[in-house]
Amino acid sequence: MVIIPYGGVNEIGGNKILIIDKKNSVKVFLDFGKSFTLARKYYEFPLVYPESIEELISLGAVPDIPSLFTNFYELRKRGLEFKLSTEPPPPVDAIFVSHAHLDHYGYISLLNRRIPIYMGSCAKKIIETNIKFIHAIRSPEVFYDGLKIHSFRTGDVIEVKKDFVIKPIHMDHSVPGAYGFIIETSAGSIAYTGDFRWHGPQSYLTDDFVRGAKKEDVRVLIMEGTHIHYSEPIPEEDVRRRIAEVISGANDLVIADFSRVDYDRFVTFYEVAKKTGRKLVIDPRRFALMSVISEDPGIRFRVEMNDESIVILDKGKKRLSRGEKEVLSSIPDDRKVRLEEIREHGEEFIYTVFIGGIKDIKELKPKGGSIYILSSSEPVDEERELSFERLINWLEEFGVAMYHIHSSGHANPLDLKRIVEEIDPEIVIPIHCERPKLLKRFINGNRKWTLPPDNGAPIEIK
Ligand SMILES: [Zn+2]
Repeated sequence: MVIIPYGGVNEIGGNKILIIDKKNSVKVFLDFGKSFTLARKYYEFPLVYPESIEELISLGAVPDIPSLFTNFYELRKRGLEFKLSTEPPPPVDAIFVSHAHLDHYGYISLLNRRIPIYMGSCAKKIIETNIKFIHAIRSPEVFYDGLKIHSFRTGDVIEVKKDFVIKPIHMDHSVPGAYGFIIETSAGSIAYTGDFRWHGPQSYLTDDFVRGAKKEDVRVLIMEGTHIHYSEPIPEEDVRRRIAEVISGANDLVIADFSRVDYDRFVTFYEVAKKTGRKLVIDPRRFALMSVISEDPGIRFRVEMNDESIVILDKGKKRLSRGEKEVLSSIPDDRKVRLEEIREHGEEFIYTVFIGGIKDIKELKPKGGSIYILSSSEPVDEERELSFERLINWLEEFGVAMYHIHSSGHANPLDLKRIVEEIDPEIVIPIHCERPKLLKRFINGNRKWTLPPDNGAPIEIK
């Protein structure tokens, strides 16, 4: 068996792990994500973006494997129509996506349409909802037409070929519908964690994964180690309590910055909004995402999206995406709110933005005395530090002070150690980790560690 990580080596995200079972002649990818580290090096969305798949191959953003990608662009150049039957025979049997974060699924858009893609049913709904909100830009990164996405749930067993079986088991992470995989191959079982945490509100999901892995006599564990060197593992109840304390003391607008797919954090802000008598302002995209997630049967706490404490931002834009049109036409006018109203009556609202929302802040022009709650990770690299600095500059301009209240979606060091000890594999391969050496030295134990030297370097398992 050969394992080739084409991304996620010494970096956070961009996972694309090719598993080759030579005896069973099977090839599958675990995740097919976008590397933000690499994308930031060359691109500046939405001004500079990838213009062809060849460009991404030459930069090393995606693997150079013949027929792996769609021939849509080639056909378009020649004025021919794209049909499934015109796609070449694919070089891999399937793609398994662990969860709906772009650094794990971002490049499925480029793939040969004959390759089946598997993901959790909630992840599928999240991705399909997101696609409706993408404004047309001419980049292959956002071309999703014709993809063949199959969904699974915990307990399903997917037989890729006889003697090559994948069992998805749910994991707790900062997006619902996250999974790890147990893969039975001719060279023994592999367990792949995807991204996970053990301190979250649904830690029992992670317990289930570990229990499932223990039954299988795992030979190889491919694990994430995002927070081996820096951890913020406070429980979600503490996040809620601290946010409630801050908002109770505030007498003007509160701006809340958190991921659009972090349902647990949405529940937290929703509950605090109800408790403090404020209305939670969300944009149409967040409304659509939270609606499909809250209807998923696997969800722990169902938010009633018609609750009057949730209002939808209507900027009165002329050009709307398909998703924005759908949401705004289905919502009664008394549940929509305009920016002017939020500015004038700040004390009545919690206004949600995401990832440094500088554009939103500039449009809103909040009054001095407003509060900005950063409820996602602190900037971890130079580039994000610069945009963080810009955000602080704008907040200074408007007289807005910031609080950082957050609990991470990634496991803390002792939980990373615990998962290795409980699953007890022969070989560990760290991925999605900037400091694999630290992970190895911290956990140690009598097992073999394989620190992948570089993206695309094969690891032979005999
Ligand atoms: Zn993730």
